[in-house]
This record gives sequence, C-alpha cells and structure tokens, in this order.
Amino acid sequence: MTSKLVTHSTTNYVTECVRIIKFDAGHRVVNHESKCRTLHGHEYRAEIFARAARLDDLGRVIDFGVIKSKVGGWIDENWDHNMLLWSQDPNLPLINQCEGAKKPYVTEFNTTAENLAAFLLQKANELLAGDGVTVTKIKLWETQNCYVEVSL
Ligand SMILES: [Zn+2]
Repeated sequence: MTSKLVTHSTTNYVTECVRIIKFDAGHRVVNHESKCRTLHGHEYRAEIFARAARLDDLGRVIDFGVIKSKVGGWIDENWDHNMLLWSQDPNLPLINQCEGAKKPYVTEFNTTAENLAAFLLQKANELLAGDGVTVTKIKLWETQNCYVEVSL
C-alpha cells in the first residue's frame, strides 16, 4: 500500500501564510508638519500575507522560505540599510553625493509607511507571480506602536 499525504480539509477556511521580514532604513516625510520632516530611521517590520487558490500537496500555501528569498532578497538589496527618498525631495541631490554602499532608493511617492506598504504589496506580487500565490496584505511596522495595513 502506498502512503498518501493527507491534508486537513480547509474548504471552509481562509488560509494565509505570513512571513515577517525586518529591515533598517532611513527616510523623511517631505512637508511633514513636525519631526518626521527630518531625516531619521526605523527598524521596519514587514508582514507579507500570502494566499493560494489551494494548498499544495504538502498542505502549504507556499514555503515560507520562498517569500523570504524572493521578497526578503529584494528588500535586502534595495531597502535594507538604505535611505528611502521621494524623487521630489529637495534634499535628494545632496544625499546622492554621500559616500555609501548603496545609492538612495528613490521612489515616486513620499515615503510614508502607507505608501511604502502599498508599493511593497505590488512588488511582492510581481516577485511571487510564478509561485501560485497572491499577496493579499502588507502590514508594515514603523515602530513598535505604529503600523499600517494595505490589502487588496
Ligand atoms: Zn519615519
């Protein structure tokens, strides 16, 4: 008799897997009313929520490691230990002259947590497009007390 993998029925449930990716980055909010107008940094925590039409043969939405390598890899390369700055930031030319391992990551939006989370939702879906999942939500923590959620 051959053994067959058995997964618990999830027909009536919504199952999402969540991979947490932490990174450190600096930014500023252009035209902010107070202190967030100053260059400063955060220990960001991104929670990536993924959903699949059905669980795979092992009973998973996706291997957590795939999200880590694809989305986490992109974050490591582009956002971690970098400055996240809006292309319209008047400080950008100055900061571009600073010596560093990376050039600032330039966005087409003011780098609020809301805008960064929305961008990451789209980017994560692009990066995982061939893996049979949809990234449904990004929860992006700026501090231990403040986070935003952006979902489809
Ligand atoms: Zn901030």
